[in-house]
Amino acid sequence: MKCKKCGSKASVNMRQHKLALCKDHFLEWIPEQTERFIKKYDMFRREQKILVAVSGGKDSLSLWDILTRLGYQADGLYIGLGIDEGIGYSTESHRLCEKFASERGLKLHVVDVAQEYGQPIPVLAEISHRGQGKPCAVCGLAKRHIMNRIARDLGYDVLATGHNLDDEAAVLFGNTLQWAGNFLVRQSPVLPETPGLARKVKPLCRFYEREMASYAILRGIEYIYEECPFAQGSTSIYYKELLNKLETDKPGSKLTFYLRFLEARESGLFAATKESAPNLHPCPNCGQPTSTDDFCSFCRMIEKAKVASNPLP
Ligand code: SF4
Ligand code: ZN
Repeated sequence: MKCKKCGSKASVNMRQHKLALCKDHFLEWIPEQTERFIKKYDMFRREQKILVAVSGGKDSLSLWDILTRLGYQADGLYIGLGIDEGIGYSTESHRLCEKFASERGLKLHVVDVAQEYGQPIPVLAEISHRGQGKPCAVCGLAKRHIMNRIARDLGYDVLATGHNLDDEAAVLFGNTLQWAGNFLVRQSPVLPETPGLARKVKPLCRFYEREMASYAILRGIEYIYEECPFAQGSTSIYYKELLNKLETDKPGSKLTFYLRFLEARESGLFAATKESAPNLHPCPNCGQPTSTDDFCSFCRMIEKAKVASNPLP
């Protein structure tokens, strides 16, 4: 297999695009495509300040690498979840993010959940009894809250995450299986800023996971290979496996599934759902939007954890 651009030996063959590229041309192609997506979906401009949420994994670190190579002003945000049993997932992912940032002279903000909110994610999850033994619901809630808080408090114009096509297709598949209109209407490469919520973008949403892994490896980015231990057996991994089977038989299916959805969404297929969006108002404690009259779910969870760890005498 030869590189389509220069004819030398190809390093990456992308059947879905009928495109094979050598290492150098692949490392050029990914940032070029990312720039195209940023423009196509009108994500952000050069003069804006971007906060990249980094987990230490291949996607988010590659995103940070690509954005800075493209000349964007991008700082990182690492959230220490305190998930350290077994492989020391949080400690290792934090180390890799710090290493990435210091080697490139980039600014990394770090929020440690246990330090700021009293308990690490697994304990918060135990106390709040959400999600049947898995901390993912609590973790997702905390990550969304913290990313939003830091982006707004520190004056970033946009929050960027490293979701790739496999992530997006798996979420879409799950929501489609349930025809979850409220979730479908919110799934987009760009979520505009709304009162209390920062603008969110996913510049890698059209790249296959395999493409991002190849990018990280060929670029020499050191990232954490292991998934979070709680990811094992998750529904999203199961959906990814199903979609991979489909992709093997019909290359390009995943991309078509996602892109046709975006077109349908753009053409107003879910317009009726938009109107039924819940009425949101600011949480009296943190100011982030909530649909209840009380504190938002995050603040309620933290309050509950405080009470549980300091029971009244
Ligand atoms: Fe959080 Fe791990 Fe669950 Fe992901 S898999 S949401 S990092 S607990
Ligand atoms: Zn709140």
